Amino acid sequence: MQIYTTPQEQARQHLAEATREFDKCMQCGKCRNVCPVFKELGNEIFSARGKNKLAEKLASGKIDITERVKHAINECLNCKTCAANCPAGVSPEHVVLRMRWYITTKEGLGWFKALLFRQILWRKWPITLTAKLIGISQRLLFGIGPNNPVRHLFPLFGFSKRRFFPQMALRSGQSLFPEVIPAKTGKAKKRVGYFTGCAGNLIYTNVVKSVVEILTAYGYEVVIPKKQKCNGTPVLANGDYEGARKLMQHNFDLFQQYDLDAIVVACSSCGLALKKEIKEFVAASPELEAFTKKVYDIHEFIEDNITFAEEDFGDLPYRVSYHDPCHMVRGQGVTAQPRDILRRIPGLNFSEMKDAAVCCGSAGSYCITHYDTAIKINNHKVKNIQAADIDYVATGCPTCVMHIQDNLLQHESPEKMRFAVEILADSLRAGGKIA
Ligand code: SF4
Ligand code: SF4
Repeated sequence: MQIYTTPQEQARQHLAEATREFDKCMQCGKCRNVCPVFKELGNEIFSARGKNKLAEKLASGKIDITERVKHAINECLNCKTCAANCPAGVSPEHVVLRMRWYITTKEGLGWFKALLFRQILWRKWPITLTAKLIGISQRLLFGIGPNNPVRHLFPLFGFSKRRFFPQMALRSGQSLFPEVIPAKTGKAKKRVGYFTGCAGNLIYTNVVKSVVEILTAYGYEVVIPKKQKCNGTPVLANGDYEGARKLMQHNFDLFQQYDLDAIVVACSSCGLALKKEIKEFVAASPELEAFTKKVYDIHEFIEDNITFAEEDFGDLPYRVSYHDPCHMVRGQGVTAQPRDILRRIPGLNFSEMKDAAVCCGSAGSYCITHYDTAIKINNHKVKNIQAADIDYVATGCPTCVMHIQDNLLQHESPEKMRFAVEILADSLRAGGKIA
């Protein structure tokens, strides 16, 4: 086992190791041409190749951490488009995450991020209470429409005045059900753990309801461990490796206590974290290997395990297209399953939209910290949605839903964002299969 003298030295060595990925680089520039950030900002420094050059210089001590370096490193969506298109098989996004880690060990996390990642997310109740209070305020303010004067207060919290937020739930998704929800068909086929994710728990609680109702109706016992915490992805993306490690270790230890046959997630980044990223943080063991193999994106689980009868479905006169979240299509290779689910619904008219797998610019906290660029990237998505002539855009990622819906509302466009699993639940409800 490698012993490091300081956390900085550990981060520096990991960074230096990550830059060696680029030994394979042929300097073809393809990562630059496909990068959504480069397309908007047009500077080599924002491309994967440019960031790697900075990383090499940082790791070898040839340059210092300057504002320009930090700016370049933070201009990345972790969308994995560069890795997916690199003919040499380079994975540049690891370099970006490690640069953020290295910088954090040198400069500290800052009080706000330390409070958020190490206290609020860890303790969980403050974020649950805050979400509820915001939910109450949103309802008292009639949803905060485009002309609501409350918008003038948004910049005080770092948000653009023109932004539309989703409504926070008054009751968390996890509190809607007991910890163990029995199968509705008697003896359960499998015992399935459900990692709801923070957004499912605090905002999109209809997704939690849909997942639980579908699985229990088709013979699965569902377990929602109430002590689950954030998957660690937002913490990792902000360079806090220690905070991410603590969260991942906690969730791993917690889910191990329930004797589960499978673990489902209905959030693209939670799925990627629990299937893959966790391997960087939790010590390798046969138990960890077995755990990661048990994790399924909800669409994967439904397609692999549930046999629907035709009479289960009710007709839905919806025109629907599908947006591929980066962490599902490139992170987990899940792309056919949600489409197959949607195509199976009677009455639903499914059509592909242009560039469905191109990043929408949300990227977790990127659409908070880099809102203007995130909206510029999203404008292409909105244009393609408008051209598709549809009622709904289905997807599988809460931040994509949030960011695209925000920009659709700003364009006064009538299309609505939905989760594919919610649309499936609509049809099963219309067919009387679920309540
Ligand atoms: S696409 Fe791959 S090989 Fe080409 S410049 Fe980028 S990292 Fe190098
Ligand atoms: S991960 Fe996405 S945003 Fe980041 S460098 Fe690669 S293509 Fe660009």
